[in-house]
Amino acid sequence: MPSDKGNQKAGSLKDPHIAALFFTEDPDKLFDDLREIGHGSFGAVYYARNVNTNDAVAIKKMSYGGKQSIEVNIIKEVRFLTQIQHPNIVDYKGCYLKEHTAWLAMEYCIGSASDLVEVHKTSLEEAEISGIIHEAMQGLHYLHVHNKIHRDVKAGNILLTDQGQVKLADFGSASIASPANSFVGTPYWMAPEVILAMDEGQYDGKADIWSMGITSVELAERKPPLFNMNAMSALYHIAQNDPPVLNDPEDDDAGPRRSWSQDFRNFVALLLQKVPDDRPTSNEVLQHPFMTKPRSATVVLELIERTKNVVRD
Ligand code: ATP
Repeated sequence: MPSDKGNQKAGSLKDPHIAALFFTEDPDKLFDDLREIGHGSFGAVYYARNVNTNDAVAIKKMSYGGKQSIEVNIIKEVRFLTQIQHPNIVDYKGCYLKEHTAWLAMEYCIGSASDLVEVHKTSLEEAEISGIIHEAMQGLHYLHVHNKIHRDVKAGNILLTDQGQVKLADFGSASIASPANSFVGTPYWMAPEVILAMDEGQYDGKADIWSMGITSVELAERKPPLFNMNAMSALYHIAQNDPPVLNDPEDDDAGPRRSWSQDFRNFVALLLQKVPDDRPTSNEVLQHPFMTKPRSATVVLELIERTKNVVRD
């Protein structure tokens, strides 16, 4: 049956399904006290306050071309966010349109796991790493159960709240369905099969499991493996060579450091297997001793406090 949908541009606000994704309030009136806190490939992220609730929020501003149509990428991210809710996923608060700019509002976090390793000049403690990865894995498991793929897991996309909660963020690259086949992600964290999908082939949530393995190494070594190479060489290396392994922490001013536990090494080796089918599922990852080992419930909160003290000094 013919419909006028065929005459509309992709992302047209005349399509009621698309228009329904956006709130109609004026964001300039709803949010005040905007302060830039971060920058991504799309534009800037701001801290702001909702004038009605007084809640702190983070606003990602993304500009788009047309007056009546929105870029497909913005629609994809908003649609994705409307479909998910989990304690370990950054809370979505709505998206507003004004003057060729989409204002994507979410809960405010104080920083990312990547900021933590930037601040501390020495490696994090093993219990801190397992605490962060365990929480982030629960958010990832939720996505995988719902047949979705994050596709950009890295410490920079694992955010922390002032209360010590860990939240998976940035769904600008996520796939609403699994399997997927496009070349998406950040080079150093990309799974071999995603790199190879450039030519042919598909991949699924196991690509995120690889990226979580790389993120574990990143938290331990402060940089992902191959970070000294340019991105193209790193992609080639990941696709062609053996997977990276976890190196022991280097000695520092505080003296020689203990080596990582066998559980941690084994965890990294398990996640970083080149054949996706050999990697554990998100559920299996959560059962690994590195995840289940008892640790203080306040380990991440204490790390945040420790980080604030370093920043203050
Ligand atoms: P990249 O291309 O580097 O992955 P991006 O363009 O997709 O980034 P985001 O990762 O969504 O953009 O956001 C950019 C930065 O903004 C983040 O690194 C983080 O520092 C900050 N940020 C994002 N969301 C929040 C939030 N909810 N609370 C606080 N800061 C945030």
